[in-house]
Amino acid sequence: MKTTRSNQQATFIDEAKIAATLASARACDASQVREILAKAREMKGLAASDMATLMENNDPGLLEEMYATARHVKDEIYGNRLVLFAPLYISNLCHNECLYCAFRARNKELLRRTLTPEEIANETSILIEQGHKRVLLVSGESYPEEGFDYVLKAIETVYSTRSGRGEIRRINANVAPLSVEDYKRLKAAKIGTYQCFQETYHRGTYAAVHVAGTKRDFDWRVTCFDRAMQAGIDDVGIGVLFGLYDWKYEVLAMKQEIEHLEGAFGVGPHTISVPRIEPAVGSTLAYAPAHPVSDGDFKKIVALLRLAVPYTGIIMSTRENAATRRATFELGVSQISAGSRCDPGGYAASADGHNSEQFQLGDHRSLDEVVRDVAALGYTPSFCTACYRLGRTGADFMDLAKPGLIKHHCAPNALSSCMEYLLDYAKPETRKVGESLVARELETMEPSVQEIGRRLVTEVQEDKRDVYV
Ligand code: SAM
Ligand code: SF4
Repeated sequence: MKTTRSNQQATFIDEAKIAATLASARACDASQVREILAKAREMKGLAASDMATLMENNDPGLLEEMYATARHVKDEIYGNRLVLFAPLYISNLCHNECLYCAFRARNKELLRRTLTPEEIANETSILIEQGHKRVLLVSGESYPEEGFDYVLKAIETVYSTRSGRGEIRRINANVAPLSVEDYKRLKAAKIGTYQCFQETYHRGTYAAVHVAGTKRDFDWRVTCFDRAMQAGIDDVGIGVLFGLYDWKYEVLAMKQEIEHLEGAFGVGPHTISVPRIEPAVGSTLAYAPAHPVSDGDFKKIVALLRLAVPYTGIIMSTRENAATRRATFELGVSQISAGSRCDPGGYAASADGHNSEQFQLGDHRSLDEVVRDVAALGYTPSFCTACYRLGRTGADFMDLAKPGLIKHHCAPNALSSCMEYLLDYAKPETRKVGESLVARELETMEPSVQEIGRRLVTEVQEDKRDVYV
């Protein structure tokens, strides 16, 4: 049956059940919290009721215990890697009226831009020359005359662009929900992860903040991953826009979506994004969100997600400032953007020429500065794209990730891709900090992985590129 808007009805988000779970978690004691944390240490995830109990805990000592547990889980599964990427905005045309977004159709303050293939290639070259290997392609929900083919051609342009010794090796895409037929075309274009944020899982709030355009259809959006999976895209990225509605509700709703995907397709989301609303030109809502999430609650959200869905990556974007980003790395973040621009043509524009931005960024540092900072903090900046290129996606990735085996592939690949960055793109100071991190990491690796790590890093030092296991 052809997928149409009218036959997509989502029943897996159960508002009453979420409300009941939250209500029953009101009274919790220390022993209950510690019992749940002990369960979380087993890295099998948490039930919604356990998550709700942890949400209600505000005791500083117990919170510290929760953060320590999140650090443990993150370390066991992901080690100290942080995968880097940059967003690539190709167009800010949009027919929707999302009240929080500067790209909304009726916003007259925004300069509209749709990049030509040459401009897309130029932006790509700039990112390659900075040292990026992964991009997240982003667009508003209106395409030029050619329709969705515009996005597919943009993907082709990015993959075929070369600059010096570099290229983009993985493109993830954040574009509006599609039909199964169009998802099949997106898969054929060889995207990595398909990302789409529900914004809010609360129907009433969703209706209030999406006031015109096709995005008004809650069910069409919330069922987008079902169609993506039916089309064979098994790496999907979910997210909500924190600030629109109660964060506790949203986190439990995400849990319901995850359970739905696991039940229906045998695989949950590859990543979870945790954007908070940032100020956006021409949006009153973005300057004063109805349910702002404090920095303290934001940390709680990251730690909670790490414990609840240990094998799902957590993405931290440059919406957040450097200090907030740093504070969340150890709690469970596995991917970060760096050196980002959120306006089409933003990488080529002069420093003060960004009047087409989607929202205000919080971290304005260059990729090189972020790499240096991350390495100085003891994390390995990784540019690895191996899993996707070896077909380790969806359930195959989860099978590998669940027993912790991912460490054996990811740790050596992180070091070789980091070394590639250090030799080809890093400033001298960054190279120094990075090389001593790589040496330290090799030194402390388990013997079985150490040999692989040393071999890959040596190959890069001997001038080979793109080596991975
Ligand atoms: N237009 C498509 C859509 O809405 O699905 C593609 C993605 S849109 C360009 C990327 C994401 O930016 C949205 O899903 C939303 O969560 C986020 N966003 C929009 N306005 C924002 C704001 N003011 N602050 C932070 N994130 C925002
Ligand atoms: Fe358009 Fe997406 Fe912005 Fe909504 S969030 S106005 S759909 S670009």
